Amino acid sequence: MPEPLIERYRSRLPLEPGDPVVTLNEGSTPLVEAPVISERVGARVLLKLEGANPTGSFKDRGMTVAVSRAKGSGAEVVICASTGNTAASAAAYAARAGMRGAVIVPEGRIAIGKLAQALMHGARVIALRGSFDRALEIVRALADSHPVELVNSVNPYRIEGQKTAAFEVVEELGEAPEALAIPVGNAGNVTAWWRGFRELETAPLVYGFQASGAAPLVRGAPVAEPETIASAIRIGNPARWEEAMAAFTSSRGRIEAVSDEQILAAYRLLATGEGVFCEPASAASVAGILAHGLPPAPDAPPPRTVVCVLTGHGLKDPDTALNKAPPVVGCDPELSAVERAIFD
Ligand SMILES: *Cc1c(COP(=O)(O)O)cnc(C)c1O
Repeated sequence: MPEPLIERYRSRLPLEPGDPVVTLNEGSTPLVEAPVISERVGARVLLKLEGANPTGSFKDRGMTVAVSRAKGSGAEVVICASTGNTAASAAAYAARAGMRGAVIVPEGRIAIGKLAQALMHGARVIALRGSFDRALEIVRALADSHPVELVNSVNPYRIEGQKTAAFEVVEELGEAPEALAIPVGNAGNVTAWWRGFRELETAPLVYGFQASGAAPLVRGAPVAEPETIASAIRIGNPARWEEAMAAFTSSRGRIEAVSDEQILAAYRLLATGEGVFCEPASAASVAGILAHGLPPAPDAPPPRTVVCVLTGHGLKDPDTALNKAPPVVGCDPELSAVERAIFD
């Protein structure tokens, strides 16, 4: 059984001595070799399977710390705006803590698995007739005027919890990878990984990837109506804009865009070639290195090892999977018919 992330890294996390540990034994996720993708990019590629966290995404790393602190400070309600996974995670950890959860999601725009999770954990789910960016503006205003804890990645404890993913990778490899590839939405996670690496005095190249229809950091300006199949990164005005850009600049990495076609091709390649089912947004990390290669820092050789962060589990979004996979093969209940169906 994995040790709760707060126990594993307690000395590096800013909790107060009296805070309870609200945990589902998150973290300690698998780091797996990706031989097929390695061959294609000409470097050793490893996949950090963040979908193996308790609610199926990396959000749990930040949520265990944010909700533990919220509970310790006496808060009774946690709220967030979400493209889906923050809602699922906040709802689960609120339930675990005996707190109430309220989550605001863009109506009709979140993957069905995430909605099912938030509802099952008993959160109040509010479907906003507007974008994620608008939902975030509203919850920020709400948190200013009500006694509720905001658990979006603007919450500093979320970033602190999420930085532990970098600790795990460095421990497991015995050193930092030479590069990190990561999908970027609200830009909290890339901020957190970079902080984790810096706390260990390491500095891999950080390659961030946005969907081309939702790529404000690539364009250098907010996107009013972000659009992509990768709903978890459908964000037009990232809250951690400056910190994310500082990570790309100081690491001498890049922020680049990938098209939905490239995301879906990587999504299928991961599933069929590596046996790993992630959600579309997660596949942006692999799509990015397939599309853009591994650009070295000036005067340096190309990186030899790259960790791709697969941020969420494929089961979160069964609709996209079923729409993009080949159809089921219907068959009469006869041996010969089954033979034909399998071998023809
Ligand atoms: C939240 C999320 C992202 C984006 O992370 P940010 O911290 O918002 O940049 C990417 N993929 C998945 C699956 C997510 O849930």
